[in-house]
Amino acid sequence: MRIVFMGAPGSGKGTQAQRLEKQFSIPQISTGDILRKHLADGTPLGLRAKEIMASGGYVDDETMLAIIRERLSQADAARGFILDGFPRTVAQAEGLTKLLAELGTPLDAVVLFDVDHEQLVKRVSGRRTCEFCKKVFNVNFAPASGECIPGRSEHSLVQRPDDREDTFKERLRKYEEDTRKPVSRYYAYTGLMRTVDAEGAIDEVTQRLLDTLKAGGGSAAPAAPAKAAKKKRAPQRRAKPAARKAARRPVRKAAKKPAKKSAKKAAPKRRANRKVTRKAKGRARPARARRKSKR
Ligand code: AMP
Repeated sequence: MRIVFMGAPGSGKGTQAQRLEKQFSIPQISTGDILRKHLADGTPLGLRAKEIMASGGYVDDETMLAIIRERLSQADAARGFILDGFPRTVAQAEGLTKLLAELGTPLDAVVLFDVDHEQLVKRVSGRRTCEFCKKVFNVNFAPASGECIPGRSEHSLVQRPDDREDTFKERLRKYEEDTRKPVSRYYAYTGLMRTVDAEGAIDEVTQRLLDTLKAGGGSAAPAAPAKAAKKKRAPQRRAKPAARKAARRPVRKAAKKPAKKSAKKAAPKRRANRKVTRKAKGRARPARARRKSKR
């Protein structure tokens, strides 16, 4: 199974990707994690990405595509993968489509995690990562539990600098403008797009996600607008997706039917009138003729 997870920072896509990774034995490929690894290792890419990541900006498309090309060529990605945080731009989405076409392994689904923005702020401000085992917890919803790496009985939780409120708000804005709107529009026409309500308990979201993926087997579910922006965006969205045009077709057909009916109704009237006229004419002549003959 080859899946893309799309969602605002903090929408829980990383957590769900970790769950599906176990269930389907396919790797979660998080471009954020790959960049953080470069950062920790002090590679040239890590040093270049450091400021961009800290400010909530995006690393350039060419670099990101090179990272993905390299990662997808590794053996563990042959059975499938979950892309988490990639693509983030239309250029990345197009590059991914081309790359997967070259490999002969197209995507099976693109899942959009839909969460209210206020909920996101809560999630992100509470998010902590164990610096040893890299598991993600949330001090508000899912406190640290379970085993760390061998030799450590407790997790050592740290907050990512880009989870701080001001940076987070910039990331959220950027996600809406540069990722959710354009990239979900790009995928909406492929028929791969599924939207999952990502609010509620982690187990519930996993269940919804599995149901969506199972039910998804080929039918298209157009991307729903993000919860926080539904009202503002409604008029624009209504005009564009092809699905809406299709959805309007039956209405047009239905609108034509009554017109046909009224044409049918009108026809018998005209025929009836003609009959009456003919009958009347037929009677009139002999009647006048009778009167004349009487005089
Ligand atoms: P994430 O952990 O996915 O939220 O990513 C953390 C940061 O890494 C982002 O805020 C970006 O600065 C950078 N990043 C991750 N993935 C991408 C991507 N696909 N394109 C550009 N920048 C990315």
